[in-house]
Amino acid sequence: MTHLPERLINGYRAFMDGRYATERDRYRALAKDGQTPETMVIACCDSRAAPETIFDCGPGELFVVRNVANLVPPYAPDGKHHSTSAALEFAVQSLKVKHIVVLGHGRCGGIRAALDPSAAPLSPGDFIGKWMGLVAPAAEAVAGNEMMTQSERQTALERISIRYSLANLRSFPCVSILEGKGRLSLHGAWFDISSGELWAMNPQTGDFERPETD
Ligand SMILES: [Zn+2]
Repeated sequence: MTHLPERLINGYRAFMDGRYATERDRYRALAKDGQTPETMVIACCDSRAAPETIFDCGPGELFVVRNVANLVPPYAPDGKHHSTSAALEFAVQSLKVKHIVVLGHGRCGGIRAALDPSAAPLSPGDFIGKWMGLVAPAAEAVAGNEMMTQSERQTALERISIRYSLANLRSFPCVSILEGKGRLSLHGAWFDISSGELWAMNPQTGDFERPETD
């Protein structure tokens, strides 16, 4: 334990004295019976947009996959390494989640990179550039719109990419079949880290609206 950063050691102690102490029975039940989360969340790696924090969820409630800019790639059974698709497969086929939420957020660095593909890659592999290439057509269209301000373009692409990921989710046969049977619902949401506001995507229009939280 001594090689872990001190902040983590101290945080773990606080967790054991606080949350674990009050939720010990729940952890034991989850260990014995396994996990049965009803919701999968696909979120960004960004340290400010943690789904468990935003939705105030405890252990066993959310099945979370996080990647740069919360993207879902299209269905591609090509034998390559697809981490997000693997998590999706497990959530849908084994855990049988009832909901999948694609959670985007404001000031997303991945989206910013997509809007400025001329920026130098961070490493020779340019993994971010390749990954964000998933939304390159939308990024080009938005980046070229001079009627919009920089922050408007940023928010627009953050929201467009959520709709893009929802469309890609439906390209997975297991998702579209279960959605067609009414056993799986797909949702989009966008979190404004500066104000704490959560915006939910209207499934009919694709617009983002403030949900009723009362
Ligand atoms: Zn992000």
